Amino acid sequence: MGSAEQGKIKVAIVGGGISGLALGAGLTKKPHIDFHIYESVPEYKDVGAGLALHLNAIKAMLLIGDEVREAYSKKALNMGDEALEMATQVILAHGPNEDMKGLMELLPPGCVTFGKRAASVGQVGDVAKVRFKDGEEIEADCVIGADGVHSVTRAYILGPDHPAVGAKNHDGYQNYRRTLPMDEARAYGMDPKWTTYVPILCGPRGYINSMPLDKGRLLSVGIVVPGLRFEADKIGGAPPLDPTKYDDYSDEAKKMIKMVKDDPADSWSYADHDNAPFYWRGRVCMIGDAAHTMYPFAGNGAAQALEDCAVVNALFDKVTSKDRIEKAFEAFDTARRPRSQRVVEISREFGWLYAYSYGDLHTDPAKMKAFMREAGGFTNNVDLNKQNEAAMEAFEKLL
Ligand SMILES: Cc1cc2nc3c(=O)[nH]c(=O)nc-3n(C[C@H](O)[C@H](O)[C@H](O)COP(=O)(O)OP(=O)(O)OC[C@H]3O[C@@H](n4cnc5c(N)ncnc54)[C@H](O)[C@@H]3O)c2cc1C
Repeated sequence: MGSAEQGKIKVAIVGGGISGLALGAGLTKKPHIDFHIYESVPEYKDVGAGLALHLNAIKAMLLIGDEVREAYSKKALNMGDEALEMATQVILAHGPNEDMKGLMELLPPGCVTFGKRAASVGQVGDVAKVRFKDGEEIEADCVIGADGVHSVTRAYILGPDHPAVGAKNHDGYQNYRRTLPMDEARAYGMDPKWTTYVPILCGPRGYINSMPLDKGRLLSVGIVVPGLRFEADKIGGAPPLDPTKYDDYSDEAKKMIKMVKDDPADSWSYADHDNAPFYWRGRVCMIGDAAHTMYPFAGNGAAQALEDCAVVNALFDKVTSKDRIEKAFEAFDTARRPRSQRVVEISREFGWLYAYSYGDLHTDPAKMKAFMREAGGFTNNVDLNKQNEAAMEAFEKLL
């Protein structure tokens, strides 16, 4: 970390994904904060996936700043349709590299160091420390871990042997996925309506979904198969997709399965986290997937990450002296842990529903709708001003 200007609070952010960069975009507007982001990859690469950002994500971005929302909108395909339940609000243009670039443009030059992988995080006295794989060690007033599912920050906060540290995949989901030009997808005879939003076709041996990317020029299509108990998040090792298992699925579903089978470019296991009992320890805190990785079935991981950033960003307005850091982290934990962990649970429930294994819910469309309305309402129709106010109230009580 560069030498901080006198009197500023030094914040080291580990991880330059959505959480790290969105938080940076907020902190950059605070004259009393000196932050730096350490990102392990040498550069952002296109992973060919897409992110659907729901209404709560949009509200969270606006709380951090209009410019954050604008950075996303520039790269996004707007799919808002109030008539559709769980309607996707915005699809990012094409994989995380595009939204990363948009957010990077909001940060002053030089505040992100790439190719810097944290090996461990810790604290000695009042000094928070990050040790990197290359042997360098930096000191800061606090560390915010935004380092994703396999977070080293999480291992420090919970203790390396805590059962909730590692990634989980209790339901054994394996995702087989392909991205192809939209014209090619249409040539499979797909109904054009499926190529303009994010359909989810449920079934007991796997659910199929597709998502338009790159402003509708590409289609990402995949099948998520439950019960394949591979090591969480491990790439490779899964058996090839067997399309004969889906002979009783609908014609539309079979077309999409064929698309994937013809060029199964990608296959990976899903991962989530069991609940962490706390999101902070002393001068070290975790946000985003580091704190609460969730299955993507409710499409809300990035949204929850952005909600974290909105709260931490608001609290750090008031972190004008070092003795306030831990109070801000505790207030963040109070305001964000219960809600974000409920969304982890909801994401598991969506997975069971899509795989027809959530009791008999799938047999009754009215009950399914009611579940989706309630769960979608919880994730998306939230008053984030109130969430920020609750965090500030908790913080002020601790002062
Ligand atoms: C298939 C799939 C589909 C999804 N779809 C949606 C969706 O539609 N809507 C939605 O809201 N969410 C979705 N999500 C979830 C969303 O992608 C994540 O919740 C979000 O990316 C979390 O952001 P993050 O910055 O917290 O973590 P990450 O995106 O994981 O970023 C962590 C960053 O930290 C870096 N890093 C890791 N370890 C270290 C280290 N030791 N030192 C330094 N840097 C490190 C990584 O390189 C990375 O850049 C989906 C997830 C998946 C897997």
